[in-house]
Amino acid sequence: MSRKSRSSRALVALAFCAVLPLTATACGDGGSGGDGDTIVIGTKFDQPGLGMKNPDGSMSGFDVDVAKYVAGELGYSPEQIEWKEAPSAQRENLIQNGQVTMIAATYSITDARKEKVDFAGPYLVTGQSLLVRSDNNDITGPASLENNKVLCSVSGSTPAQKIKDEYNGVQLQQYDTYSACIEALKNGAVDAVTTDEVILAGYAAQSPGAFKVVGEPFSEERYGIGLKKGDSDLRTKVNDAIKKMEDSGAWKEAFDRNLGPAGIAAPTPPPLDS
Ligand code: GLU
Repeated sequence: MSRKSRSSRALVALAFCAVLPLTATACGDGGSGGDGDTIVIGTKFDQPGLGMKNPDGSMSGFDVDVAKYVAGELGYSPEQIEWKEAPSAQRENLIQNGQVTMIAATYSITDARKEKVDFAGPYLVTGQSLLVRSDNNDITGPASLENNKVLCSVSGSTPAQKIKDEYNGVQLQQYDTYSACIEALKNGAVDAVTTDEVILAGYAAQSPGAFKVVGEPFSEERYGIGLKKGDSDLRTKVNDAIKKMEDSGAWKEAFDRNLGPAGIAAPTPPPLDS
């Protein structure tokens, strides 16, 4: 195909997909694979070690590497991936309205979310924890926050929900992103940030000496790849890809490369859900 016809075809596809976002098959559906189309994948853009859009525009992180591997198994080269930012509160919507084919974005598998989307995986298990400034000594766990501390988390996340459900004496401020919470922690607007330990460790490694993770994890977060509900064929393919990544050693390599610098040792990958 000539350059010109290829790019005009892409333009037509772009216009078509913008007008008809529900027509996922023509707009990067994972099933077609490898014929020159693109696949749109949602991830975080501000979580170092997991999903990060770097200043030069490149993407990095464990979620990004898992998504790239899965896309590769579906027939898409890294150049064929279009990354879309998927903030915590928007993930189910992005999947349901067809704006993304899949989401790998520190996305915990929960029963409530499974009513709206399907999950492949889990591909990682972590747990909710707390991040404080290095010089803080009186925050030791969630219960110590009830003593007039201000806690930051993200709207639409499981850690924010857990605080609301189980520690309602805590003053919770919800932002759209964890990087906004980290700014607030840095400048003293909040006393602690809560989310999954791997995310917090990534921020701690990004600002050496500024923060520390405290206490023991107090939830279980099982990361899955979010998919449109009912596409069991795609879910099977994504699960097969995750399994292959784990068995081949690529999973551990990606974990060590992305999360090793944050001081986390690669765990054994969890078994996939049936
Ligand atoms: N894993 C949790 C969740 O899915 C917290 C991390 C996040 O907000 O991305 O809600």
